[in-house]
Amino acid sequence: MTNSLDEDAPPDVALRSDEISNIFDKRESSVRSYCRSFPATFSSAKGSHLTDAAGRSYIDFLAGAGALNYGHNHEAIKTALIDYISADGLTHGLDLATVAKQHFLESFERLILQPRGLDYKVQFTGPTGTNAVEAALKIARNVTGRTGIFSFMGGYHGDSLGSLSATANRSHREAAGVPLHDVTFLPFPSGVMAEFDTLTYLRSVLLDTHSGIELPAGIIVETIQAEGGVNVAPSSWLRELRTICNDHGILLIVDEIQTGCGRIGPFFSFERAGIIPDIVTLSKSISGYGLPMALTLLKPELDFWQPGDHTGTFRGNQLAFIAAEVALELFYSEKISERVAAHAKTIESGLNALSAIDERIEVRGLGMLWGADTAAIDPTGEIAREISQRCFEDGLIVERVGRNDTVLKVLPPLNIGDSTLNEGLAILNAATRACLSR
Ligand code: PMP
Repeated sequence: MTNSLDEDAPPDVALRSDEISNIFDKRESSVRSYCRSFPATFSSAKGSHLTDAAGRSYIDFLAGAGALNYGHNHEAIKTALIDYISADGLTHGLDLATVAKQHFLESFERLILQPRGLDYKVQFTGPTGTNAVEAALKIARNVTGRTGIFSFMGGYHGDSLGSLSATANRSHREAAGVPLHDVTFLPFPSGVMAEFDTLTYLRSVLLDTHSGIELPAGIIVETIQAEGGVNVAPSSWLRELRTICNDHGILLIVDEIQTGCGRIGPFFSFERAGIIPDIVTLSKSISGYGLPMALTLLKPELDFWQPGDHTGTFRGNQLAFIAAEVALELFYSEKISERVAAHAKTIESGLNALSAIDERIEVRGLGMLWGADTAAIDPTGEIAREISQRCFEDGLIVERVGRNDTVLKVLPPLNIGDSTLNEGLAILNAATRACLSR
């Protein structure tokens, strides 16, 4: 068959207006998710606000699921990016040495690692969090020569096969289409099995020659399970977990993809427990501007990699390096840790006011990662869905997480203004009141 199209000219086919408005339904895969909860077409964003194509403004308590700790389009980062683009700096760089990467690494060393006495090699993985987790699991397995990984019920570590095997959510796991191997799940010390003494169980699993469970290569943990429903691991529990790993030669992998970059106050959330993980995964807000970038930090003695063993075309997002260098400065100049501590009090009291509406609402969180769990009112998650929807109608974006999505997750940009934060909490309060009084 001959092709009648003139390949050099754009096809002269106009979309009908109904096709334009339905282009998402018509063409985009049904895998899309957030847009179903927040059905607007967004056109611009600044700070802690999003604006849709109809000109409506929304307060953003979702913050790119943790990718926008400094808010949307921060001026200082934007200026650095524009300058870099104007000067024709590299945009794509594989893993070539570039000035942008050099400056990022120097800043990371000077501002993050050295002040904390941390000595990690930095691995630039593919630019999504899940790829940083893939690398972490490979490192643990290759270095120890063991295959097993322990993860926690409620944990979320990504959706590619390796990380998915350590992710607990059943519907995500079923979508794998193949069996997911070599991960043993343990109860987390907050949430549905909070009463269970996991660490005593873990010690006996490791010591008992009849436990039936092999010594694992690594244990992967979020210090606060974010997608899993905002379940906070106590600091003492994290310390004890570190000790158990030391006692048995197990590598401790802390997944900081959502909790890191100042989300709970310190740059790394594990700092509150005074522990040093063997491997750390970092992504989301490391670039500070929502630009894709992911890192796996590994103790130097774990750097078993041969050149190119874990490669990828997009491990050198130069724009992300430029943004990240500024973001690391902002972490200090905007006094992020202090702001988070102050905002934490505001959010906690704002959510406690929801418990005053209905005492069955359970409030959990730390820093600026908080959840209001409605499971005791409605374990199906329908009430939480209604509250989130009502918030959206009233100009606030707040997502749902946890088992059956019963938890309203409050995750604003860390530099949100006091009045915007209070305004958002007031919308959430009014929506909760309205939905529960029906
Ligand atoms: N780990 C944690 C703790 C996360 O919250 C996420 C993303 N929600 C991931 C891993 C996966 O990151 P990504 O979506 O960039 O693959």
